[in-house]
Amino acid sequence: MNRPVAHLVGVLGWPLDHTLSPTIHNAAFRRLDLDWIYLPFPVPPESLGDALKGMRALGLRGANVTMPHKESVVAHLDALSGDAEELGAVNTIQEVGGRLIGHNTDVDGFTAFLASDAGLSMEGKSALVMGAGGAARAIVRSLDHTGATEIVVACRDVAKAAWVDELSGKARAVGWADAEEAAGVKDLVVNATPLGLGGEDALPGARFHRGQAVVDLIYSAGNTPLVTRARAAGADGWGGLGMLVHQAIASFRIWTGQDPPAQVMSAAALHALGGIRHKRDDTDS
Ligand code: NDP
Repeated sequence: MNRPVAHLVGVLGWPLDHTLSPTIHNAAFRRLDLDWIYLPFPVPPESLGDALKGMRALGLRGANVTMPHKESVVAHLDALSGDAEELGAVNTIQEVGGRLIGHNTDVDGFTAFLASDAGLSMEGKSALVMGAGGAARAIVRSLDHTGATEIVVACRDVAKAAWVDELSGKARAVGWADAEEAAGVKDLVVNATPLGLGGEDALPGARFHRGQAVVDLIYSAGNTPLVTRARAAGADGWGGLGMLVHQAIASFRIWTGQDPPAQVMSAAALHALGGIRHKRDDTDS
């Protein structure tokens, strides 16, 4: 007699040194007593097509997709949902009757983070988005949908931000030199660059004040210098863990049809982040 087989999902990325996604999802599967397993799949760019064929052959129920595959994976899928199609980027694959459907839960993840963690309505508000990569696209789409009236995207190479006009009539791209001034006057500032990962302040000249919200998409056990400085100036400051957990919640719902325990996911991520920080400290010493 065939024994029931666990449902398998995972994350495709390269490299995948410090991914928190297996920890977050497996904690939720355990808490809900679901027979699902989430594994990391380090896949180099030249093997992405083979990995997708493997997913189909092995009957994986889905996968997350992270750097550098979010855009290149589109060519290997059977269909895209709304946000994924609009952004040309996928972070979640769902298997439905042998077909692989691409979704983008970064948009909903940021929207849910703003509403439920930050308690911030963007209706009639302005925003600065630092960076013009994949995460910035998702943030701009979320801000456009949640009522922001002005969205400024600051980037080093404005030519790389041609997508801004296409994605939102309320958004415009400016050069990096304009970021500091904009940061002082917008209601919301979002760092969607890797600046800060090395402990540096992503925008040292920015002057924040009470009434603003500053979100650094980088997730770490402690606050980044940008968030620390924003809070010291009286602004609300948030790291990227909230968005990470909310995009994971959306992926989980797509795969299982169930609501995962958000607190369990957050606690598991925080615990793992502490471990990652300690490992890095050990390596540094
Ligand atoms: P991308 O590589 O797609 O984009 C990075 C952007 O940052 C590019 O516009 C790049 O500009 C810019 N950038 C890089 N270095 C600098 C610099 N020194 N000065 C100014 N701009 C710079 O990455 P993603 O958009 O996917 O991710 C961005 C950050 O957001 C990462 O730290 C990632 O970990 C985080 N993230 C967090 C999520 C969460 O859930 N919390 C979800 C997704 C991302 P250029 O093109 O000129 O190099």
